[in-house]
Amino acid sequence: MTNRTPLIAGNWKMNLDHLQAIALVQKLSWTLNDADHDFGEVEVAVFPPFTDLRSAQTLIDAEKFEIKLGAQDISQHESGAYTGEVSGQMLSKLNVEYVLVGHSERRTYHAEDDSVVQQKVAAAWANDLVPIICVGETLEELETQGQSAVPIIQTINALSSHKELGEFVIAYEPVWAIGTGKVATAQEASDVATAIRQAIKANFGDDAANSRILYGGSVKANNVAGFLQSEQVDGVLVGGASLDAEEFSGISRFKKHIVL
Ligand code: PEP
Repeated sequence: MTNRTPLIAGNWKMNLDHLQAIALVQKLSWTLNDADHDFGEVEVAVFPPFTDLRSAQTLIDAEKFEIKLGAQDISQHESGAYTGEVSGQMLSKLNVEYVLVGHSERRTYHAEDDSVVQQKVAAAWANDLVPIICVGETLEELETQGQSAVPIIQTINALSSHKELGEFVIAYEPVWAIGTGKVATAQEASDVATAIRQAIKANFGDDAANSRILYGGSVKANNVAGFLQSEQVDGVLVGGASLDAEEFSGISRFKKHIVL
């Protein structure tokens, strides 16, 4: 048993306008409440597009929902002439608690390298946000370097050169498993999480190594339990399946599928 609270995080990507976001947050909350979900035991967070955040926040506040709010990205800059960017302060004022940093789609389509990711982690901490640092290898990297090498170096680079570390979460997401229907095996996810944790411990100490490490990549209600059977995996980052309230609620209720 660890003292780490599992986190189930739903990355909506570029889907759903603010009205659809209200409907989904409402349905998700009702579905989880109907199932007597204990949010203290398993945290649930949604990551809608920027334009939906204010509506989701207003609803969560008004209805006192226990679902947490995250953003899909953050600018590494504080403010100023950065057209199209959204700052940490803007997110923080919307009661956003988590922010995805270095998602593979941002690394691939927006040329975010480890240095930008490191700066975004700093921007998150400067605004009391918890970065969920996404790391993972491509198929080519898997074939040439094995499974753990790239996630480890990306993790170390994201956490290096800060005066001190704030709270963070690592999401191990093999790029070849995101949105493809291909999943890592539970053993692979556990092995990579173990290797990342050892690297964090060696470079940043015990406290940092007790941070949560999630698995992400084609997670569904029918495969989540396998990943979370490992003590090394502290939750999941879910893309496609988080757009369906029943499915995401099923993922969040993973404990009932675990056979001990
Ligand atoms: C993701 O976007 O982080 C992700 C894991 O997507 P999917 O679950 O659709 O593979």
